[in-house]
Amino acid sequence: PRQITLASRPSGWPTADNFALTETELPALRNGQILVRNLFMSVDPYMRGRMNDVKSYVPPFQLGEPLDGGAIGEVVESLSPDLRKGDLVLHGLGWRDQAVLDAAHARRLDPIEGMSPSAYLGVLGMPALTAYAGLLDVASFKAGDAVFVSGAAGAVGSFAGQIAKLKGASHVIGSAGSDEKVAHLREIGFDAAFNYKKGPVAEQLRQAAPDGIDVYFDNVGADHLEAAIGSLNLGGRVAICGAIAVYNSTEPTPAPRNLALVIGKRLTLRGFIVTDHSARMPDMVTEMGGWLREGKLSFSETVVDGLENAPQAFLGLLRGENTGKMIVRL
Ligand code: NDP
Repeated sequence: PRQITLASRPSGWPTADNFALTETELPALRNGQILVRNLFMSVDPYMRGRMNDVKSYVPPFQLGEPLDGGAIGEVVESLSPDLRKGDLVLHGLGWRDQAVLDAAHARRLDPIEGMSPSAYLGVLGMPALTAYAGLLDVASFKAGDAVFVSGAAGAVGSFAGQIAKLKGASHVIGSAGSDEKVAHLREIGFDAAFNYKKGPVAEQLRQAAPDGIDVYFDNVGADHLEAAIGSLNLGGRVAICGAIAVYNSTEPTPAPRNLALVIGKRLTLRGFIVTDHSARMPDMVTEMGGWLREGKLSFSETVVDGLENAPQAFLGLLRGENTGKMIVRL
């Protein structure tokens, strides 16, 4: 079977040369283990951080070793009483055609009628939980709040905005990097949206929310965070989820330059990591599942075919080539 390994570490923007497609031999199955044929794998922005050799909340990828990350596959062989051949599973050994792993490290998934299993990497998975817990628990969203979401046409952002709207936000504003994405945001229920590449974020946000915002769901950092701090009302709350504007920076970003406003406005800025919020998974699945069945929640996927194209899918994600969740179909 084939796998994608880390060929070299990037400085600044990663390129295709940082990845290699290699052949490997799988170890023999031991008791309690399963052999999985992967069907879908996730590429996520946090993987950029793992390409650097720095200590973080997830260990770095190792040079010459396969990358890993969320994947969905079918069990093709099992030496575990808990999983059977043919079971659909979610596990952490993406970036390869096949994987041998302990059954304890895989979660059996129920097939969902009318939906691709890749939904478990998006609307019923980690990105949805990030949006759900980030908005409701980290930013303490409440009905009547005006909410701004950056990276709004991506996986996490599109859910954050829709959840806010479904739970009674007075006004939901999104920013994204193309006019097509802005139109898409209007279609999925955002009250206002703007293209951050077309003018200063602070100005565009002020125009979209003349009465200010109460909650900011931050996927981007830098200028976006500065603009949000400028527009937040007294007692405003920020869930700091990501800072994709700086993941490929080689120099520290000057923004936000207006951090002192946090004091007088009594703002709360809170960073969080989704894995600390797994207790909310059942609530998220119940609510998102309900909205999906009622046709109240939209989700999009951008699907790239072939393990050999996974690095391009990842690079495309960093460049904004996805609407909704970026998925690789194997
Ligand atoms: P997305 O689906 O949102 O994909 C990334 C998007 O980022 C791109 O589509 C692109 O859209 C946008 N982007 C890229 N560069 C910039 C830039 N310089 N300025 C503004 N936007 C940019 O990915 P996810 O939904 O998976 O992740 C969204 C964010 O949430 C990321 O920051 C990620 O790190 C974070 N995250 C955090 C988690 C946590 O536990 N804290 C868990 C999961 C995700 P565009 O065309 O609009 O530029």
